[in-house]
Amino acid sequence: MVFEDWHTHNELCRHAVGTIEDYIKRAIEMNMDLIGISDHFPYEYLKNGSVLIDQVPYQEYAMKLNEIGAYFSTIQKLKSKYSDKIQIRIAFEIDYFRSQEEALNKYFKNRIEELDYILGSVHMLHGKSRLFAFDDWRFLGMYKEYESIDNLYLEYYHKLQSMISSKDFDFDILGHFDLPKKYNKRARDKDHVLNEAIKTLELVKKNNLTIEINTGGLRKEVEEQYPSFEIVERMYELDIPILLGSDAHHPNDLGYKFDITIKRLRKIGYNQLAHFNERKRTFIEIY
Ligand SMILES: [Zn+2]
Ligand SMILES: [Zn+2]
Repeated sequence: MVFEDWHTHNELCRHAVGTIEDYIKRAIEMNMDLIGISDHFPYEYLKNGSVLIDQVPYQEYAMKLNEIGAYFSTIQKLKSKYSDKIQIRIAFEIDYFRSQEEALNKYFKNRIEELDYILGSVHMLHGKSRLFAFDDWRFLGMYKEYESIDNLYLEYYHKLQSMISSKDFDFDILGHFDLPKKYNKRARDKDHVLNEAIKTLELVKKNNLTIEINTGGLRKEVEEQYPSFEIVERMYELDIPILLGSDAHHPNDLGYKFDITIKRLRKIGYNQLAHFNERKRTFIEIY
């Protein structure tokens, strides 16, 4: 069985452990067929815009703009060094912010053709009083600003919908689809929130995007992959392509619980996983 991990980080983002090479070596040790290097894209490009990015410790969330060049050249070097052992892909996980596409593309467009795929994610919300990263435990106090946790979920799904619909935000794979559940703060009106999630899935389908099954959630308080199998069932009905990511922030996270997750995906009906090369999607069989 082909074994590919499409979502990994490394020490460049300041909150992951290990060099890019450490991850590659570990992936080889684990007999993986492919590793996608998909570290967090910098937030600095937002500094002079309308997003008050200084309200969050963004320096701890991503590499710097002036490190992008080294990021590419390091991965290219490792790609040839280990070419007979493992396939290596170059990617970014990019955080979406409304109406910041132009600022982003200024830094990004010139390198986009060097990428194999782009993970589009939402980690931040605007709340009532300030910007905050809802997946950073230091901002858990901000949840109280919402009348109900459901409103946080709804704001999140609306932002995903904007990301998917944006003509200028270029991405291939939607990251950790139901991330607001990370700290196991569950929706109260479950059906209402699920409805918004399904509306989001319909947009994903319409735009021919892929969703990652992110096993990182299994290591968090929620102890469940993103998205839940309830959502994955809807994805299968809609024929939305999927692939697997561990969201590794330590080399030992690579391929985390892929075996049991694939078994569940097979039960739901999925028999193939998406695969990317130079932004082109193909499929591999799972069994
Ligand atoms: Zn991270
Ligand atoms: Zn993420």
